[in-house]
Amino acid sequence: MLSKEEVLRIFVDSGALLTGHFILTSGRHSDHYMQCAQVLKYPHYTEKLAMHLADKFRNDDIEIVIGPALGGIILSYELGRQLKVPAMFTEREDGKMVLRRGFKVFRNQRVLVVEDVITTGGSVREVMQLVETYGAKVVGIGVLVDRSNGNIQFGTKQHQVLSMEIKSWEVTECPICKEGKLPPIKPGSRKIFRLG
Ligand SMILES: [Zn+2]
Repeated sequence: MLSKEEVLRIFVDSGALLTGHFILTSGRHSDHYMQCAQVLKYPHYTEKLAMHLADKFRNDDIEIVIGPALGGIILSYELGRQLKVPAMFTEREDGKMVLRRGFKVFRNQRVLVVEDVITTGGSVREVMQLVETYGAKVVGIGVLVDRSNGNIQFGTKQHQVLSMEIKSWEVTECPICKEGKLPPIKPGSRKIFRLG
């Protein structure tokens, strides 16, 4: 089992968790930025992080793992590999969460729903509802990063690899702006500072 420090180290080393001065999509400023795709691009890190979740659900007789595209696909696959069960993903069709490509869930099947990042938990809830329309049972939720810092509860067994709240401020309140040493950047631009 990885310690919180080891998990954080993996996120920092992979470039998924950046430290600096960022302009978020909302326009607010933050001293951290999280991009899960950066850690999931490394199979050896993904294997380690997924094992953290697989161990929690090993005794739950999971029969299928399902994650919402795109974020949940890699995690679903890796959990399925470790738990030795099929892994599938849901997609949106006209805004509605659905199973396509011949993917099916059967009545009473025991399902583990996974997602890379949850902020409000909306996509996970949609997948849960979808699974229930098939008469299957969601027996667990596995999340890589819980950005609600434990505030979102799905009403079933749930585990996350990392739970954190990324602080952000209105521009006028931003302490890094006030210090005036590090100019703010938009994540995804080339001038990323990695202080880690
Ligand atoms: Zn700022």
